[in-house]
Amino acid sequence: MRPFAFSRADSVDHAAHQTAPTAAFVAGGTTLLDLVKLDVMRPTALVDINTLPLKRVERLDDGRLKIGALVTNTDLAHHEEVKAHYPVLSQALLAGASTQLRNMATTAGNVMQRTRCPYYRDPAAACNRRAPGSGCDARDGINRMHAVLGGSTDCVAVHPSDMCVAMAAIGATLTLKGPDGEREVAFGEFHRLPGDTPHIEHDLRDGELITAITLDAPLVPAGSHYLKLRDRASYEFALASCAAQLSLDGELIGEARVALGGVATKPWRCAEAEAALVGQPAEIASFERAAEIALADARPLAHNGFKVTLAKQAIVRALREAARCAGETQEASA
Ligand SMILES: Cc1cc2nc3c(=O)[nH]c(=O)nc-3n(C[C@H](O)[C@H](O)[C@H](O)COP(=O)(O)OP(=O)(O)OC[C@H]3O[C@@H](n4cnc5c(N)ncnc54)[C@H](O)[C@@H]3O)c2cc1C
Repeated sequence: MRPFAFSRADSVDHAAHQTAPTAAFVAGGTTLLDLVKLDVMRPTALVDINTLPLKRVERLDDGRLKIGALVTNTDLAHHEEVKAHYPVLSQALLAGASTQLRNMATTAGNVMQRTRCPYYRDPAAACNRRAPGSGCDARDGINRMHAVLGGSTDCVAVHPSDMCVAMAAIGATLTLKGPDGEREVAFGEFHRLPGDTPHIEHDLRDGELITAITLDAPLVPAGSHYLKLRDRASYEFALASCAAQLSLDGELIGEARVALGGVATKPWRCAEAEAALVGQPAEIASFERAAEIALADARPLAHNGFKVTLAKQAIVRALREAARCAGETQEASA
């Protein structure tokens, strides 16, 4: 392991002035320390942010829910507001990693986690994301786990988060604090598509700290579901996942939100599929049409063609369950 300086931030302002591009914040450490040990990340300074006052979840007057950057994945999944108004987020969090990891992992750390592409995690392999200009061994390598949406010639690595898929469907805003002050970024614009700069993964500037993530007000009356399809039933990343939310207007769909995980280079909101659902009967034929639209631009690689079918099935099943829940909510409020 390479030597690095270690310090503890004693205030948000202090943390937000760690401007060295090679400095990294430590939250739960469950991604960062792995990658440092693998020699994939090489920070010269680690700044522990665990004592900062960023552990609150609070309902705002406008109905949105503000989540502190250091709220753990466990605490968020079991928070009463989340279980009551954003069950899709609770389900997504509980589908991720293991109990022990969720106890350590934080909300901001989850947003910032890196791809699990084995070529990214192996410094001996060519990877434009880790070492710009070195190539992409995944394109012609073993790419069963890789992206069918949002990839480029330079990178086809999947964004691995479950939590982020639910947040993409719900809609959210990140609050960032840096040496130049505070700013907000829409969740959907935070993660970047790889294009020809896959090493630029997100819209966080040097020294900036994520201080909070604020969820949009919940859809009402609505139903939602997170479905994760994977090689084994627990402690495994998604091959395909879907976060779905629907509100009903009688038998018809009022609003729809659909996002995919496990198949794309960033948490993947399916805006065209959502638009096609609005005003349609909440039935399988509508869900299947939406799934076809969502995967219309899929570009499978040699070993991951099955993900196109799997993602479509995830969409149909997640929407079916979301519609069932929305129907129950509608009946209860009639
Ligand atoms: C074995 C294993 C299995 C897993 N399975 C899953 C899974 O199935 N689904 C899933 O979604 N995830 C999974 N994960 C990933 C896990 O969710 C992440 O490791 C975790 O969420 C990262 O959070 P952390 O607080 O530990 O981040 P850290 O490791 O502390 O930090 C990660 C990155 O975020 C940066 N960072 C942290 N906080 C901030 C902040 N406030 N502002 C700016 N930058 C910040 C750090 O500098 C670092 O670059 C798995 C991880 C492991 C090790």
